[in-house]
Amino acid sequence: MVDTIDFDSGQAGPTLLILGAVHGNEKCGSHAIEQLISELRAGEIEIKAGKVSFIPVCNPHAYEQNVRYVDENLNRIFYHHETPQNYEEHLANELVPILQSYDCVLDLHSNHTASEPFGFLDYPEGKAKDFALSLGLDSVVTGWPELFYPEEDHTSSACARRGGGISVTVECGFHDDPHSIVVAKQSAINAMKFFDMIDGTPDEKHTDYVHVVERVLKKSEGEFSKNWSHGDKVKKGDVIGTYDDNTEERASVDGHIFIPNGNAVVGDEWFYIAVDQ
Ligand SMILES: [Zn+2]
Repeated sequence: MVDTIDFDSGQAGPTLLILGAVHGNEKCGSHAIEQLISELRAGEIEIKAGKVSFIPVCNPHAYEQNVRYVDENLNRIFYHHETPQNYEEHLANELVPILQSYDCVLDLHSNHTASEPFGFLDYPEGKAKDFALSLGLDSVVTGWPELFYPEEDHTSSACARRGGGISVTVECGFHDDPHSIVVAKQSAINAMKFFDMIDGTPDEKHTDYVHVVERVLKKSEGEFSKNWSHGDKVKKGDVIGTYDDNTEERASVDGHIFIPNGNAVVGDEWFYIAVDQ
């Protein structure tokens, strides 16, 4: 069972759901949410319109074990599973109806590599684009769902959208960097300000738009050609990684490396390539 904590103004207004630890080892959102809950309970922050709800830990067992997931990546399976086969499928069945009952969803994650805070805006429709820009992030990334074509998209954002809501996923920084908690908390505060739920206006910040064009899975054991950092520029044809059988992964376009994972296991996402918009 996951805990949901509600703060309802009793006044008309949007409903906002803020998620932490969809991935169990990404705890900045949970810590930020804990801080916000205590400030709301103490009356230091007052919800004046609509309702904000928090799920501090969406994947409790993975959180306890400090792992991304127990059986399966929860953020790829947010749909109703008729006969749930594993832990995350049970969690998805519990979480999906909650996600789909809100106007807006803010999903707080962190990253396995050092990076500036950025947001995934999977469906830049309606108010969603302004919502993403209000969060005070360095960049906003589009193009994610297209990467998963022709698979169905079952991230938290896609799930929220099927329920008629808008959603942004924030990568708040490196897992172990305490600053990621600050980013998560500020994103949540900016979101509440954007929807006029609390006093104030969101932080002014120049936010770049980035489009992700390629997703590369680690096909067998191998190594990166260098210690790639998020945002490193690459030229078409550059060798990004080499497998133990000496075959290579090369950049398909001029662009930059996006969330490289030097610790990816075979079958997981190894890196992405993104281009500026
Ligand atoms: Zn994550």
